[in-house]
Parts: sequence; structure tokens; C-alpha cells
Amino acid sequence: MFENKDNAATSIGSLGEFGLIDHLTKNFKITQKSTVKGIGDDAAVIACDSAQQLVVTTDLLLEGVHFDLSYMPLKHLGYKAVIVNLSDVYAMNATPTQITVSIAASNRFPVEALEELYAGITTAAGIYNIDVVGGDTTSSTKGLLISITAIGTAPKEDVTYRSEAKDTDLLVVTGDLGAAYMGLQVLEREKEVFKVNPNSQPDLEPYSYLVERQLKPEARKDIPELLKSLEVKPTSMIDISDGLSSEILHICKNSEVGCNIYEDKIPLDPQVISTCEEFNLDSTTIALSGGEDYELLFTIKMDDYPKIKGNPHLSVIGHITNKKEGVHLISRAGAKIPLIARGWNALNEEG
Ligand code: ADP
Ligand code: MG
Repeated sequence: MFENKDNAATSIGSLGEFGLIDHLTKNFKITQKSTVKGIGDDAAVIACDSAQQLVVTTDLLLEGVHFDLSYMPLKHLGYKAVIVNLSDVYAMNATPTQITVSIAASNRFPVEALEELYAGITTAAGIYNIDVVGGDTTSSTKGLLISITAIGTAPKEDVTYRSEAKDTDLLVVTGDLGAAYMGLQVLEREKEVFKVNPNSQPDLEPYSYLVERQLKPEARKDIPELLKSLEVKPTSMIDISDGLSSEILHICKNSEVGCNIYEDKIPLDPQVISTCEEFNLDSTTIALSGGEDYELLFTIKMDDYPKIKGNPHLSVIGHITNKKEGVHLISRAGAKIPLIARGWNALNEEG
């Protein structure tokens, strides 16, 4: 076991994922003039010329932590590994252009399996119009690891940060929430059934949307385009990878503001509502802390409301307040509940 020189050992879980990142990175200083934004947003921002900026983001997916190959086909995994990175590029209001792909695989994986993985990567690259320009390949003692880095570009004035939300801005979310998490619950349940009875054939039809959102998510390529066509520049933006409440808290912390969101405004698919009932779970809790939705959460000036009103892709779920007012969920019954980043903390769950 590793011990530091003071003979003390602090568990990673005690800091949590975001606490650990802050702790490890707090002493990095920006020295390059071209570094516009370092650590702390969905992607880093680098100046390339006076008009354009580059955004760079990276994600690491580990077998057993982020995916389970007993129900995740390798082709879907390759596709999803690309999507989770592109989502961070769109969250900067930028257009992805290139990715690099690094893998570590144990000898349990034949070449054909890795070909499947790459078939998914190739499909995503085609659909999202990006080039695969490099990577790294190495062996692993156990399991599969994939790390993708995505690069994108945007005109300097379009790049959108987590830190610019202002009091009275409206908080908007795309699509609907909680489906990917419920898809995972359904797949985990079927896996347990299969263990007991390997001849059982799962009927996933009633859960098709949930399972698709878990196994084949898409990134919201359409949203930066839509906002441009509506002539709306979001004041802040983030993608929803760790659950709505965690992402709202990031925007509020980085922008030094508070927020009220309304439970009855949170967009839910009917399959999420019915499956939550079946699993005896509260659908609001699932939307707030489920994770892996890869929708976008952004703020707009109140004056821009008429431009987005009635758009089927966009739901206004609340508004930004003064920091002193804190971050709250207003329940259907009118109760004001402080929002906390619950669940979905991979570091805590390891135990
Ligand atoms: P996201 O959920 O959007 O992918 P993360 O929560 O993973 O963002 O990361 C938040 C910020 O911290 C990002 O700027 C990311 O680049 C940075 N970051 C995460 N892990 C590390 C690390 N080990 N070293 C340096 N920077 C990191
Ligand atoms: Mg993100």
C-alpha cells in the first residue's frame, strides 16, 4: 500500500471526484498566452488565431467501472466512447473536428473484438463528421480501457463557459432526463435474471427508449446549430454527464450565482415515469442524479425567452438568482429543497 512521508493515508473517496480534481490540480499555473481556459470547464480553450479558438477534452472509460461487456456490445461501446467526448465539445458551443483514440486491452480480447470496437468509433466519426487522427495502443493485465481526446473549434465569441450565468437568466435543458440511468437499471436486472436462468429471453421492448439511451447515446450536435439559427447565445453551458443537480451546482459555483429549478418543469419521457414506478424509484431523483443523459444545460438572458418559447427540444426548468439565495428545487407541492449533488460518484461507489 502507498503511504506518504507523514505516514498518513487519505482515501480518494473522502474527497469525491471533484474534490480530488481540485486537490490535485490547484497548483497548476497558466503560463502560455494561448491558454484561454485551463482546468475547470467541459473542455480547455486554446487561442489559435485572432478569430478562432480550439477546445480540447478527454475522457477515460474503464471496463467494470464505466461499462459492462455482458450487455454492452463492443460496437456500441466504441460509439459511446466517442459521443461522451463530443458532448463536452458541444457544451462549449464548439464544433468537434478531430479525435484521438487510445486503448489498453488484455489478451482476452481477440482482434475481431477490437475491430467491433473500432466499427463503432468509425460509425460515430462518420455521423459527427470528425477525423480520427491518432492515439495509442498498449496491453492491459485485466480488462479494457478506452481514452478518447476530442478537439473542436469555434469562433472566439461563440465559446460558452460554465462561469457566465447571471442573476435572472433562465435555465434551459435539452431533450429529457433520467432515461440512460433507467436503461442501466433494466439491463442490470436482466443480467441478474440471466445469471439465474441462462435460457431466459429478455423482453426489452417496453424499455426500448431507455436501453437505447444507455447503450447508444447521441451528443446534441443540433443544439449549437439551433441556438445560432434562433440568434440566442447561451450565457453559460455544460453537458449533463453526471446528473442534472451536479451540473446545475457546477454552473452555480463557477458563475457565483444561485438558482431555483421547478420539479414540474423537468422533462421526463413517459417510459422513464412508468419504469420508475415499476422499480419504485422517484423519477425526479433519477432525473437529478441519474447521469449519462448527454443533454445540454444552459442559461439564456430573459430577453431571449420569446426566441426559444415552444421549441420542442428545449425546456425552461428554472432561473438564476443571487448567490445568497442558494440552489433549490421547488417541489410540485411548493416546498423549497436545497439541491445537492447526489449519487453517481464513481469514486465513492467503489467503497
Ligand atoms: P466533464 O464531466 O465535463 O468531463 P470533469 O468533471 O471530468 O469534466 O473534469 C472537470 C475539469 O477537470 C476538466 O477541466 C478536466 O479537464 C479537469 N480534470 C479532470 N481530471 C483531471 C486530472 N486528473 N488532471 C488534470 N485535470 C483534470
Ligand atoms: Mg462535461
